[in-house]
Amino acid sequence: MSFRLYIPGPVEVSEETLKAMGTTMIGHRSPEFVVLYQSVQPALQKLFYTQDPVFISTSSAWGVMEGAVRNVVSKGVLNCMSGAFSDKWFDVSKRCGKPAKALSYEWGTAVKPEDVRRELATGDFDAITLIHNETSTGTMNPLEEIMEVVRKFPEVISIVDSVSSFTVLPIEKDCLGIDVLLSGSQKALALPPGMALLTVSARAMARASEVEGRGYYFDFHEFKKNHDKGMTPSTPVISHIYALKQQLANIDKEGLENRYARHRHLNGLVRQWVHSKGLRLFPEEGYESLSLCCVANDGSLDIPAMNQFLRENKNAQMDQGYGKIKGKTFRINNMGNESEETISEYLGFLDEAIDATRSN
Ligand SMILES: *Cc1c(COP(=O)(O)O)cnc(C)c1O
Repeated sequence: MSFRLYIPGPVEVSEETLKAMGTTMIGHRSPEFVVLYQSVQPALQKLFYTQDPVFISTSSAWGVMEGAVRNVVSKGVLNCMSGAFSDKWFDVSKRCGKPAKALSYEWGTAVKPEDVRRELATGDFDAITLIHNETSTGTMNPLEEIMEVVRKFPEVISIVDSVSSFTVLPIEKDCLGIDVLLSGSQKALALPPGMALLTVSARAMARASEVEGRGYYFDFHEFKKNHDKGMTPSTPVISHIYALKQQLANIDKEGLENRYARHRHLNGLVRQWVHSKGLRLFPEEGYESLSLCCVANDGSLDIPAMNQFLRENKNAQMDQGYGKIKGKTFRINNMGNESEETISEYLGFLDEAIDATRSN
């Protein structure tokens, strides 16, 4: 039995993408691979708004999130924390043996530029991690304002996670001065899980040169050395690169501005629906995500029962909230290939699920 995914990752993957993944295998040191690898670069650089190389990592996003910390942190890293993924990045930094400090907020609250300024001004840090869109709480951090602060501290290398915001809205890497911008495959890009993308500034490459213990698999310099030959350090997930190529062509066909507008429009439809149900969004006002809506359970929703209803009657997989706010919230995804048709249909399913299960 398979269920149509309405969760914010992995998101539903199109037939077309699955078919692209089935393309005949090639050798990863062959000229055919070099052509494939190099053919996706221009589109990736365009989507990341960067002149820097975009590396392809055979790992989930956590691989490069950990890898980035291992490559650039020497003195200390400030981990901005406001939800499950950003909280975990602090833990991962410590596990890598790095001096790490938490800049911690209640879940659903956005990271504030003035707090970042205060912390960086201590001079204790040579790196910062920030999750642009905290998927667990549906909160979008004010990236431009935060980067404006970070740019004032030339010693600080910025590592930004755009796993659930990449191609949902423009993130202008070079313009904002982001040093390491990374993303995963199974959220905004609507590819299956297992691949990550990262783009690294010259500054961050230079820092990496001075940092001990970068390891091998996620070493920025291994990526760069191979990138220059149109290759990856080890055997990559070639099937995903075929799928990526197909999705990049799709994005190009849709047009970037249209894509951003579609996500904004769909997100607006979901917000309207939330309010029409007398419900509210979980995040701090003004920082609601454009990629998904995290809906607060006002106590009237039996989320496990809704989930069961949707699985049994609609063949649909809903989200039931993440981590410590599971059951207190549920999330509705509008990333990837979602359309007005699919979102409207799902909101109709949710109406039915609520009617069938609401306790008061
Ligand atoms: C899903 C997610 C991750 C982790 O991705 P994996 O593919 O599980 O490694 C990291 N950051 C954000 C913002 C996410 O939404």
